Amino acid sequence: MENNQTEISELGEFGLIDRLTKDFPLKNPETKKGVGDDAAILSFGDKDVLVTTDLLLEGIHFDVRYVPLKHLGYKAAIVNFSDIYAMNGTPKQITVSIGVSSRFTVEHLDAIYSGIKLACEIYGVDLVGGDTSASATGLVISITCIGVAAPEDVVRRDGAKPTDIICVSGDLGAAFMGLQLLERENVVAAGQKNFQPDFAGKEYILERQLKPEARKDIIEMLRKEGIKPTSMMDVSDGLSSELLHICKDSDTGCRVYEDKIPIDYQTALMAEEFNMNLVTAAMNGGEDYELLFTVPLTDHEKIEKLKGVTMIGYITKPELGCAMVTRDGAEIPIKAQGWNAFNAQS
Ligand code: ADP
Ligand code: MG
Repeated sequence: MENNQTEISELGEFGLIDRLTKDFPLKNPETKKGVGDDAAILSFGDKDVLVTTDLLLEGIHFDVRYVPLKHLGYKAAIVNFSDIYAMNGTPKQITVSIGVSSRFTVEHLDAIYSGIKLACEIYGVDLVGGDTSASATGLVISITCIGVAAPEDVVRRDGAKPTDIICVSGDLGAAFMGLQLLERENVVAAGQKNFQPDFAGKEYILERQLKPEARKDIIEMLRKEGIKPTSMMDVSDGLSSELLHICKDSDTGCRVYEDKIPIDYQTALMAEEFNMNLVTAAMNGGEDYELLFTVPLTDHEKIEKLKGVTMIGYITKPELGCAMVTRDGAEIPIKAQGWNAFNAQS
């Protein structure tokens, strides 16, 4: 590196975002929350408008050798809807921007858009614009999603309080194990002519990687049961990383129990096959698009009855830090090993 130049990896993803955005004080009274949550919160009249955007790059976020293009389009839309649900809002519109190299044909783009269309139909979202450009190499998809919520319904990352119960929807680590499997089969396939990968009994983890869903159902269920989380975010980078975000923003600590982390049977089998630590995969895998949220202790009975929601621990005072309690009662500090595109080792 030249003198006084800084490697991006020295800052990491979140350090970089902080540095780039810290000198932008908010000027408009309509801007309730800028950088730092799953979506920005804008106040217009009696509604809050939520805005989020995600960028997917070929070779970084997806590999067209094993991701069907329709699935890619579907997932590109879903990850944005997930961020809106994570604010307890409803996604309403998307814009889609793409950059394509000459390696891709019109039919390829049709396939991507058929996935986007399906996601829009299922989640009731309108496609309202975007941008299209040639790209020197590879495929780029960026989707921006606009959502809406009543101001009193919006849930941020910073509202967790000591004694709150920490909950997570669905199960964790499956999308990560699905990716490991796809990458392994792709390596195996290279060099074999008529290679047929054996995915029998592994459908769930593959689906979790290739065709994730946003947890609209969980948001609706919580609303129906009269439960409003004190904090919430979606699990895109891995549970460890997301827990640290909630605790940092809420100025709290947390305890989560190793034996409470929800993990599917197929995820466990696959981790064993790969000789990977299962809990590490579930805590740090990412791309689960489940909802991580906290509720007051007084909601314990209501939460207990809910299908598809697991209580995994509780919020503490900040002095206690963030830790996982192992099966034998030891406490291990939680570290962010979440996905980090700028970290060469990951
Ligand atoms: P998520 O995982 O929920 O999509 P990110 O971790 O990507 O959120 O981003 C964290 C926060 O930083 C968000 O508020 C996002 O809008 C903001 N952000 C990310 N990259 C940039 C950037 N280059 N410029 C401004 N804000 C950014
Ligand atoms: Mg998010």
